[in-house]
Amino acid sequence: MRAGPAVAILAALLGAPAASAQAPAAPAADAPAAVSALPMQEVAPGLFVYAAPYALAGRRNDGAIANVGFVIGRDAVAVIDTGGSLRAGQRLLAALRQRTALPVRYVVNTHVHPDHVLGNAAFAGEGTTFVGHHALPEALSARAADYLRANADLVGPDFAGTRIVPPTLLVSTSLDLDLGGRVLHLEAWPTAHTNSDLTVRDRETDTWFLGDLLFVGHVPALDGRLSGWIEVLRRLRAEPAARVVPGHGPASVPWPAAAGPIDRYLAVLETQVRAMVRDGVPIGEAGDAARTEAQHWSLFDDFNARNATTAYQELEWE
Ligand SMILES: [Zn+2]
Repeated sequence: MRAGPAVAILAALLGAPAASAQAPAAPAADAPAAVSALPMQEVAPGLFVYAAPYALAGRRNDGAIANVGFVIGRDAVAVIDTGGSLRAGQRLLAALRQRTALPVRYVVNTHVHPDHVLGNAAFAGEGTTFVGHHALPEALSARAADYLRANADLVGPDFAGTRIVPPTLLVSTSLDLDLGGRVLHLEAWPTAHTNSDLTVRDRETDTWFLGDLLFVGHVPALDGRLSGWIEVLRRLRAEPAARVVPGHGPASVPWPAAAGPIDRYLAVLETQVRAMVRDGVPIGEAGDAARTEAQHWSLFDDFNARNATTAYQELEWE
């Protein structure tokens, strides 16, 4: 698809109200009036999360299928993930603008997946810095064309104007972002759920955005290394937090208790795929691994077979 004309139209829409109303001094992004704000939950003071439904990207949800949020400091706001389309990002921005006029200084992406990054363009403007794992730019550019094409089909007309906005501020190990008296601590992890997993801890409220390193209710989706994910979860569990925000699941959950189901799922997957490799079961039949987990998870049949195949390819080389 060609995004150019749609972007131009959108720019015109964005510009029109600013010209007629009393123009704000800050160049902060404004949401177009037509979009409906995402319903947010304030899970800690000044920290808001949209708990997305358990769904695949589609025409009824604008691709807004991943949890997204923002943290309001004294001087500025940081957004954590942006949803699966420009419109999903605009709906998040509309929700943000209902609560603060402060500039969006940072947009942080927790990993490469389209449901977390494709809303970035809603925030692209003067003064907003996009932040991600050091491996994120390369991962995004390798997949950009596929992500845009596939999600344009899934989301339909509401996908118009969506484009990739890669991070320019990269995290190799850890980084602190200051929102004015409020510091977010970012950590980049070794390959686990993906090769670009990043967590964000709001030090003020001890609230930890774990991205898709934590799935709750929605079956995990493995796109990195199974053994790496199990190990990173072990390290995360060792760190207390007042609450964590999963990439998919409720807006906030207790920690480390909320890790129980995903730990079990990944362990079952590892045990059963390892046995298949050992017994010479062909990879084409690996999708049956972890079947006993089906009753515990939403969207199990949409992801489990691919998880098993990914795990098989990793474990057969051990
Ligand atoms: Zn996700």
